[in-house]
Amino acid sequence: EPSFGENYHTFMNWVDEIRDMAVRTNADAPEDAKRAREFGAQGIGLARTEHMFFGEERIKAMRKMIISETESERREALVSLLPYQKQDFIDIFDAMEGLPVTVRLLDPPLHEFLPDEEEEIESLAKELKIPLRDLKRKIRLLKEFNPMLGHRGCRLGITYPEITEMQSRAILEAAVHLKKQGKTVLPEIMIPLVGTSEEFIHQHEVVDHVAAEVFKEAGESVEYKVGTMIEIPRAAIVADKIAEEAEFFSFGTNDLTQMTYGYSRDDAGKFLEIYMQEGILKDDPFQILDEEGVGSLVKMATEKGRKARKDLKVGICGEHGGDPSSVRFCYNLGLNYVSCSPYRVPVARLAAAQAKLTASKYEEPERVVA
Ligand code: PEP
Ligand code: MG
Repeated sequence: EPSFGENYHTFMNWVDEIRDMAVRTNADAPEDAKRAREFGAQGIGLARTEHMFFGEERIKAMRKMIISETESERREALVSLLPYQKQDFIDIFDAMEGLPVTVRLLDPPLHEFLPDEEEEIESLAKELKIPLRDLKRKIRLLKEFNPMLGHRGCRLGITYPEITEMQSRAILEAAVHLKKQGKTVLPEIMIPLVGTSEEFIHQHEVVDHVAAEVFKEAGESVEYKVGTMIEIPRAAIVADKIAEEAEFFSFGTNDLTQMTYGYSRDDAGKFLEIYMQEGILKDDPFQILDEEGVGSLVKMATEKGRKARKDLKVGICGEHGGDPSSVRFCYNLGLNYVSCSPYRVPVARLAAAQAKLTASKYEEPERVVA
């Protein structure tokens, strides 16, 4: 449990008086959300939903869904997940009452839901009452050589719209449920791994369709926003087109770095240290944003996006969002918020305030020249 002295609170209040860029948190469990709130988070910038599917019952339902041949079988498998998902969101929204919560739709590499041990495959075949050979064939078809560039993010939501439907329903039913108790819920639904405006439009339509249904059934409605991750270089290139459709952008700089540098986010640690020692790289690009790297794409996409939509809300939710020098970079680009893990929230608040103080003194003229 964090314990803060009185001086800490006084000091952080001064910090917040200076600061004008918001600090949110990345959290996908209510305990994390509560902790982050104590640390001063002003909402959730990224609630990932992958972990919510890893409980035993849920992973079974997901497996069933993935290997189902027909849409109706898939829907049936997902229906069993809806009550769990709804409760997840009720708990998170409740913990963040009155503050915005960005829920990202499912973004796992698909293979994470597949069994790969022989025993597991056999028991799944029994459970689903399908011939072992058929199940193995299906698994072979779904296996990918490069899952991080594969069937994940909105690509899943497009090939299996039932997932987007189920998750949107859970989010909006949870929001309506709390609103009926007099609580303020500000849901923001975020589409992952978008690289074309068409992908975004497709998923946005699914969400809106579900929203209309849910609100009609409930006789109650909530305001919700639909926006996108910008985490594929192409999304930055066509940011103006995407912003015509999206209400907010959130930079997923983990994937954006991976795809810009061509360094695997899972394996690059094996050589990055040496690269930095040898002076080939000045900093770890997975931590630090700069003009010669991903920072340039963040800048380009923010400018293009805001040109198309003046009030576009822009944030960042990759690891960089908690790094002080990257927070400064984001501040200088005029981002609305940074989002980082709960324990980095106080540092991000400080960094945002410091960025503002020093920008007005030292950096403003340089920005004009640049
Ligand atoms: C990202 O890619 O930066 C991101 C925040 O999403 P994830 O880490 O879940 O891929
Ligand atoms: Mg990502």
